Amino acid sequence: MERDSTRTGQYTDKLRVPEALTFDDVLLRPKESRVEPDEADVSTRVSTDVEINVPILSAAMDTVTESEMAIAMARQGGLGVLHRNMDVEAAVAEVERVKRADELVIRDVVTADPDQTVRDVDAMMEREGVSGAPVTDDEGRVLGIISGTDIRPYLEVGDRDEVREAMTDEVITAGEDVTPRAALELMYEHKIERVPIVDDDNRLTGLVTMQGILQRREYENAARDEDGHLLVGVAVGPFETDRAVAVDEAGADVLFIDCAHAHNMNVIDGAREIRESVEADVVVGNVGTREAAEDVVDFADGIKVGIGPGSICTTRVVSGAGMPQITAVAEVADVATEHDVPVIADGGIRYSGDAIKAVAAGADAVMLGSYFAGTDEAPGRVITIDGKKYKQYRGMGSVGAMQSGDGDRYLKDEPDEEEEYVPEGIEAAEPYKGSLESELHQLVGGMQSGMGYVGAGTISEVKERSEFVRVSSAGQTEGHPHDVMITDEAPNYSPNE
Ligand code: 5GP
Repeated sequence: MERDSTRTGQYTDKLRVPEALTFDDVLLRPKESRVEPDEADVSTRVSTDVEINVPILSAAMDTVTESEMAIAMARQGGLGVLHRNMDVEAAVAEVERVKRADELVIRDVVTADPDQTVRDVDAMMEREGVSGAPVTDDEGRVLGIISGTDIRPYLEVGDRDEVREAMTDEVITAGEDVTPRAALELMYEHKIERVPIVDDDNRLTGLVTMQGILQRREYENAARDEDGHLLVGVAVGPFETDRAVAVDEAGADVLFIDCAHAHNMNVIDGAREIRESVEADVVVGNVGTREAAEDVVDFADGIKVGIGPGSICTTRVVSGAGMPQITAVAEVADVATEHDVPVIADGGIRYSGDAIKAVAAGADAVMLGSYFAGTDEAPGRVITIDGKKYKQYRGMGSVGAMQSGDGDRYLKDEPDEEEEYVPEGIEAAEPYKGSLESELHQLVGGMQSGMGYVGAGTISEVKERSEFVRVSSAGQTEGHPHDVMITDEAPNYSPNE
């Protein structure tokens, strides 16, 4: 019988597979440009209603983002997404902590009582970490203000005297509509550091401090909401409407449906329910295909992409499923762009070049875990192994992380006692890197260099203008430092990554 090499069938047809690419498979084709990298505008949208000033998000992982990281990210213009390995009450407190940081008007003001003793008030101020307090009566009306300077002489000679004796009773106050500039002028004119904010009945509603105003000035690129509070994102499980409603009420700006496979139709039902129950924008993820994007784009305020690219992720080897990230982003962006819905590329980014490639493939912003896990602002302490400093970094689908939370990101029930988890992530350590600010500086600066090479002055121009070339493995080797011994470490390149 003659052999027909063109014959195919149901299964051999399946092997005629499309190619899917990831970061190392492509490079941006350099183009004519008048863009100076430092002037490239990196502001973008995370979701339909939320804008940030640098296109970077920190991952919702328990070794990456709690309030300290979220505050630092927003101060630098990005967005931190709080993880959900904590109970709802703790999540609400974390959101509140971010919203209170850098506030012009402090709301939970520490106040003193006129008939408290000076000694008491001194101890209270120490405990609360404040250096002065408005003195109010039972109705909350401002009677005076007391500071460390007022207290000091009394501590020597009369620490049982009452606050009303020691306080300054000519208080300079301001109304709710005070601007930072007007508050500073009052402080300057009267040589004071705090101005209580009062209503028409002289009742205390807040406090403006010199320190607060100066701190806000320092972070002029910060990502803030319309009231001037730092922006914050929060991860919620697809079936956690209660958590979603609670963090929404606490002031979260964007909720991220936190699921490894959001094309599961039950997850989409849950996400829709959450979308209908909250005011905040809802980003749905993770997905990695055109079809998944089509199934969420009608209600999602943003779509997050990434099935298995993460550095600590074993989804692809454990489950045999996944999508190389550049192709995944491009497929989702094809659909999302038509509906004007932002796309976030989540996972697998090791270098700033990967981040700008993700944008070129259609992402509006990128989310990173490992890149930030070694910074001071990430939860956890610095550990030393063989004389080198590290911080712990683990997948949210690792055994350890699932034990401290649950497995529902991976759509798994909690196993019975004698059973074991089937993890989709590992536990690891990241070299200690110092402050988030310097890491972000390198990341954003590298992305801006990329914008210079492709001649794109804005993130949307990168998406529109840039073109890819395919890189062979020889080309890839050529692209990294080669045939030399590195003598000094560069702040943005490590050969081990
Ligand atoms: P990285 O920036 O470290 O490469 O990736 C971080 C991203 O990996 C996270 O934002 C999240 O989407 C994903 N991720 C986190 N933990 C796990 C895990 O245990 N398994 C999988 N499959 N993905 C994870």
